[in-house]
Amino acid sequence: MATVDELTELYPNETNSEERDRMAHIVYPASAVTEAIVTGTPCTALCGKVWVPNRDPKKYPLCPTCKEIAEGMGWKVPDL
Ligand SMILES: [Zn+2]
Repeated sequence: MATVDELTELYPNETNSEERDRMAHIVYPASAVTEAIVTGTPCTALCGKVWVPNRDPKKYPLCPTCKEIAEGMGWKVPDL
């Protein structure tokens, strides 16, 4: 069973500059995010969002769809 420590939340690329699009998404495994940042290739969130992560996600609200999916899988989701 996954734990919250294995989850990584990030938010969309700067190209999505609309404020409402700036949400923290959950990507599993977290190593996929690290690889995406290093290689510059997009990663995919639980909700299906695909983007290149590049910023601190903690300033943004958690994507409700990602949260719903994560909770449905029995993962503990942190409050941002
Ligand atoms: Zn999401």
